[in-house]
Amino acid sequence: MYSKPYRIDHIGIAVKSIEESRKFYEEVLDLECYKIEEVPDHKVRTAFFKVDDVKIELLEPTDPESPIAKFLEKKGPGIHHIGYFVHNVNEALMVAEARGVQLIDELSRKGADGMDIGFLHPKSTGGVLVEFCSDVIVL
Ligand code: ZN
Repeated sequence: MYSKPYRIDHIGIAVKSIEESRKFYEEVLDLECYKIEEVPDHKVRTAFFKVDDVKIELLEPTDPESPIAKFLEKKGPGIHHIGYFVHNVNEALMVAEARGVQLIDELSRKGADGMDIGFLHPKSTGGVLVEFCSDVIVL
């Protein structure tokens, strides 16, 4: 049986500079950056904060061709995507497609934080880029 998303894993926020943007999270919200990771496949550098179980993921482009660079050009800094935790990313993508959603990823791929991830197109989701993610890699 299909298992639906069962919690919000993270909120992805596009920033021009992690060094500049992290100040708000550290100095105003008193959160701690527990990891900075570059994901060359996506041409981004990421910084992670945690509020209870939910991660805040700052995304800074490392290349002008990065999807995050394009997002910043079009919309400026701000919320980029919502990451929903699912048991099986490929299954969740398949079910969404069967329910009429346009996918960005037909199959899951490797994301930041060792996660298995896949995106739905914002055209099909009311304008929000939706990510499914799981730390359970199902082949
Ligand atoms: Zn994400």
